[in-house]
Amino acid sequence: MTEAGVKKYRHLYGPVPSRRLGRSLGIDLVPHKICTYDCIYCQIGKTTKWTLARREYIPVKEVLKEIKTFLSEKIPFDHFSLSGSGEPTLHSRIRPLIEGIKQMSQVPVAVITNASLLWMKTVQDDLLLADVVLPSLDGVSSRIFEKINRPHEKLSIEKIIEGLVEFRKMYRGQIWLEILFCRGVNDTPSELRKMKEAVDRIRPDLIHLNTVVRPPSEKWVTPLSQREMEEIQSLFGAKAVIISEFDRHPSPASPGDVAEGIVRILRRRPLSLSDLSKGLGIPREDLENYLAPLVKEGRIRSRTFGESVYYEVADDFKSS
Ligand code: SF4
Repeated sequence: MTEAGVKKYRHLYGPVPSRRLGRSLGIDLVPHKICTYDCIYCQIGKTTKWTLARREYIPVKEVLKEIKTFLSEKIPFDHFSLSGSGEPTLHSRIRPLIEGIKQMSQVPVAVITNASLLWMKTVQDDLLLADVVLPSLDGVSSRIFEKINRPHEKLSIEKIIEGLVEFRKMYRGQIWLEILFCRGVNDTPSELRKMKEAVDRIRPDLIHLNTVVRPPSEKWVTPLSQREMEEIQSLFGAKAVIISEFDRHPSPASPGDVAEGIVRILRRRPLSLSDLSKGLGIPREDLENYLAPLVKEGRIRSRTFGESVYYEVADDFKSS
């Protein structure tokens, strides 16, 4: 069991397998589930508090202390990943946090953001030291943006796109823009055309095309087929990639409280047996022995989506 999964870490989780970042050490910067959006495909559940208020939701001092302890364990990983149970740029001291990480480690820092606050000058400045920024953009016309992302009432998609264009001009690191497609929502020819125009203005280094692969917040949301994704990929050109499941074999886990670690990781997002096995470095057969009692106790539950079975934390345990 990797140590960040154990109870002694309140703000770190993983390293977990990430389809884009390899083994990623997650840093949770806002409590579950505070966000600027309530996306229909969100894998960590419905937003309970929409806000645009930037605050030090979690003390940076505490997070840096945990990171220092984690680094002393010498567990290999590929990226620090600032994300978690909501929108990380809502954290008002994200810049000192990145600076603190940089003083302790050479591992690249990634920020996974929904881009909703990137029009704010302070947010743009705060992210300048990150090595990779992974913003998302799922709809460019107001109607579709509102349908898919269900944003805070004060947000406008025009402003968000301008923010991305501005940020690209000033930021020297990598921008990997993610677009997540939901069937019948943001995959219409006219929306794709407008999306392409917006992406051409934003000039990301990579365009990550994604569809719904984990159980979504709204049960009616369904994914695009591989063929449809490939058609979209050809529209977006050479920088576009369809992101596929991360497939690197992890190092063996160190001992620890495996069951608590599983609950902690699943609190962030549903994972399949195979994801959990890769991320935790525990063979699938052994993991089943930990999962079954947790399901019986009602702390986690399984849910079938597509052809896979995912595990997720039961509602009563989501914020505990
Ligand atoms: S997917 Fe991300 S941006 Fe959308 S509601 Fe969930 S946490 Fe917020």
